[in-house]
Order: sequence, then structure tokens, then C-alpha cells
Amino acid sequence: MPWLGLPPQHPFGLQTLPYGSFRTGSSAAPRVGVAVGDDVLDLTAVSGVLLRSHERLFAGGDLDRLLAAGPAVWHEVRSAVRGWFGDPATRDTVESAMRPATSVLLELPFTVADYVDFYASEHHARTLGRLLRPGSDPLPANWKHLPVGYHGRAGTVVVSGTPLVRPHGQVRTDDGRVVLAPTRRLDLEAEVGFVVGAPWSGGAAVPLESFAEHVFGVCLVNDWSARDVQAFEYVPLGPFLGKSFATAVSPWVVPLAALQAARVRPPARDPRPLPYLDDSDAEPWGLDLRLEVLLNGHRVAQPPFRSTYWTGAQQLAHLTVNGAGLRTGDLFASGTVSGPHEHERGSLMELSEGGRTPVALPDGSVRTFLEDGDEVVVRGRAPGPDGTVVGLGEVRGTVLPARPAPGASGS
Ligand code: CA
Repeated sequence: MPWLGLPPQHPFGLQTLPYGSFRTGSSAAPRVGVAVGDDVLDLTAVSGVLLRSHERLFAGGDLDRLLAAGPAVWHEVRSAVRGWFGDPATRDTVESAMRPATSVLLELPFTVADYVDFYASEHHARTLGRLLRPGSDPLPANWKHLPVGYHGRAGTVVVSGTPLVRPHGQVRTDDGRVVLAPTRRLDLEAEVGFVVGAPWSGGAAVPLESFAEHVFGVCLVNDWSARDVQAFEYVPLGPFLGKSFATAVSPWVVPLAALQAARVRPPARDPRPLPYLDDSDAEPWGLDLRLEVLLNGHRVAQPPFRSTYWTGAQQLAHLTVNGAGLRTGDLFASGTVSGPHEHERGSLMELSEGGRTPVALPDGSVRTFLEDGDEVVVRGRAPGPDGTVVGLGEVRGTVLPARPAPGASGS
């Protein structure tokens, strides 16, 4: 029996055990932590006593070395941590290395190598296609043949809690002028991110069945977006500065090992994809992750990840089919998660029908896009084993006013 008295439905119970990086103060060195209940276990400290064979993995204070160590070590460490909470002999050591989660500063958990963002939700792609290209087929001709994606900017991936300064960009005004101005259509995108651990030397697509040998776990992503900037720049090469100013991630990376009970069959695919993407005969990687989007504390959407057309395994296979390898710390996100129903849409662009139908908040205000001072939270959970809940934590951010921009006049 575990000596730790946690309510059975706690999202960070022993079924979850997500990893992160924390500091005990702004000038303290970062340390690797595991979230357990409302506490953080200092793995950098406790590994020096109870896990000497892997102590070096946690000395750097982030997840980089653990990610690189590969699936056998991931399993070993997770089993060891779980075991400590069921062993009275380790109780004193473990308890002395736990501190309240509210007392620590959470850092970006790993060094982001490359960042890719997909567009894997059919419901999102259809709604956005209808809004951006009215009158034409909302799904591009390639969409059901491959997971559409683009390479994003790894250097602007930030951890939850980082404020978002409203970005500037080139936009077209209502009277047709082109100006450099703060975005007037700032949006959120609720997404699921996959964190690559063990590298892949490249040369061929990562087989679908090898997904869990390379992907360590998942985090939540808010892909901040400037819709007016995006709309003016995206033809012909796709998203660029309308996306690259900031992408926020949750501080806790939940191992795939914690999500076995959340695996579900993804939606049926028609047409059948090419063999490297065809999971119809395999055990596919659909995941029943239930997201929520809160705007100023009010829930505005409940996007269901299980409705996503392309799984993380298919995204990874496609990402590598041209021979590209993978590095530890590569992050790829699903794209906005939206379900078939209106309340399941993972962006304000969709919830407000492109700005035409404002979203009402309980304080009487309405939103089409984000205003200065708005706070966005994306949080999530998944079914765990034996009726438990696996928490995915949250990614939180507040919008700050744009900085003054010299030369921001029109042309
Ligand atoms: Ca996105």
C-alpha cells in the first residue's frame, strides 16, 4: 500500500508521475522534479540516495539527459519512483525531498530542439478552411493523404506562465492599406505536444509501432496566433511571423507510459493512407485526452483530442519519411484540437466564426479575439488505469499590451 495519502481522483496521483524542471527561487539552480499530488518531488536530490545508477540523468536540472536515455531507462526510473511510494523504508528520504508545488518556480522542462506544428484535426481544418477560403473545398486536396504541418520556431517555445506581449506584424487595414501594427486578431490554439526523447538516425520513416521508443511523453500547447498577420502572409509558404512570436507549453511532461488506458481507436480514415501511415492493422495511437480552454477563468471550449484524424505516431512517421532524423528535445504539436461540436472548438477564430459571432463571458463582456489583460488557460486530463484520472496539467498565459513600435506607420 502506498504510504502517500492522496485522494484516488487526484490528477497527479501515482498513475501520472509527470516530469518537469523547477527552481526553489529565482537565483537557485534548476532541478528535475516529479509532480506527486500537490507536491513536487526533487528527483535531483533523491536520486543521489535512492537511484545512484541514474543520478547523472538529473544533475543538469532539466529533462534533456533523461529524454536521451531511451525507453528502457524511462521505464526503470518510473518504476523506481512508483516503488518509493509503496516502500516504508524509503519514506523518510522521499518525504524530505518533497515540497509544495506552490512554492517552486516551474521552468521550460527540456531544451527544445526543432519544433513542428501539424494541422491534424479534421474539424479544425474544415472550419478554418471554410472561414479562410469561403466557396471552395474547405479541406485541401492533400489533407487526407498526409498530416499537413510546418516547421515552427523552437527558440520561442516558452513555459506556462510566460506573459504574451501582443506582437506587431504587417496587416491589411479595412481600407486596403498595409501597415505594421499590433495584431488586432490575437488568438489561442489548444493543442497537444509530443516530446521526442530517443533520437532517430533517419533514412526512413519511424515505423508506427516504434512511436513509444522515440516519443517520451506529451504536454499541452497554446500556439498563440495573430490571425490578421497570418491571413496576409500565409500564401504561398504557410505560417510564419503570425505564429513564431511565442508558443507556450505546460511545465509537466506526462510520459506515454501513463497514457496506456487512454489509448483509443482514431477516426476511420478514408481514403486508406499509404502504408507508412496506415495503422488499420496496428494498435493505433488515438488518445482520449480531454482538453479545456478557459478565458479569464470561464470555460469556453472542451476540445476532444480523440477526434483528431492523424495520430501522434502518424505525425512522427510523416515527419521522418523523407529521411530526416530526430534529435532529443524535438517537439511536435498536433495543431488546434477541435471536435465536431461548436463548444469543442480549440480557437477563438472558430468559436467566434472568424470574428462574426462574439463569445459571451459571464461578466457581460464579449470576445471575438483576445484583449490586453486576458488570461488563457488550456488544461487537460485523460482516463487512467482502474478508474483513475491522469492529469495533463495546464498551460497558462496573460496578454500584455504591445510595445511601442517606432516606424509603425502605414504605407
Ligand atoms: Ca497551431
